[in-house]
Amino acid sequence: MSNIVNELVEDYIRNTLKETEGLLKELEGYAVEHSVPIVHKEVADMLKVLLKVQKPNRILEVGCAIGYSSILFASTLGEDVEIITVERNEKMIEKAKENIKLAGFENNITILEGDAEERLKEVEGEFDMIFLDAAKGQYKLFYDMVIDKLKVDGLLISDNILYKGMVAHDDFAVKRKRTIIKRMRNYLDYICTCDYLNTSLIPIGDGVALSYKQSERGDINA
Ligand code: SAH
Ligand code: MG
Repeated sequence: MSNIVNELVEDYIRNTLKETEGLLKELEGYAVEHSVPIVHKEVADMLKVLLKVQKPNRILEVGCAIGYSSILFASTLGEDVEIITVERNEKMIEKAKENIKLAGFENNITILEGDAEERLKEVEGEFDMIFLDAAKGQYKLFYDMVIDKLKVDGLLISDNILYKGMVAHDDFAVKRKRTIIKRMRNYLDYICTCDYLNTSLIPIGDGVALSYKQSERGDINA
């Protein structure tokens, strides 16, 4: 139970939408078996629609895990897309490399190995889409490192922003997560109120924020 979407509603949606096939389906099974937190099915389906509409050429992802979302992006967009994804967990990196090779996207997807706090500093060029899907307590820090690399008209997508409902209401919160919850609330306050983004908070999966960049940010503290 995600505390975000009623279980019966989520089941209905899952049973109605098309099932994934091939390697992605296998990876979904692997993720369940090994507790790898890949994007929820409903979020994956929404991302596919957004990708088809926006047709990004360059995507930056923070949090690769086993490569599921990167492969989903590449297989939705086709062979011209370039995806740079950051991951610090060695086991995940090993698995992601294997999966990316199996999917035939070695030329499209590059993994930057190590902590995003370090690796994001050396990322060059601009991106049409940025997907934040890593340590939930660090989103504002990642954000500050990447937002100027996002093109105007680009899309910033932040996953797991409601964190099992805990970010939305203290009734769902557990004490040991209070720092993460506080940081995520501050991050959401920021992206929802700053004047160069248009943000929408969507209560599907574990919560997703969609932010459209309408102009450059002038001041880092804006
Ligand atoms: N985007 C993936 C799931 C990512 S899960 C998908 O949907 O398929 C989150 C991942 O972020 C984990 O594998 C974790 O190791 C990684 N991560 C968390 N904090 C990180 C950091 N600071 N730097 C690099 N990777 C990080
Ligand atoms: Mg996620």
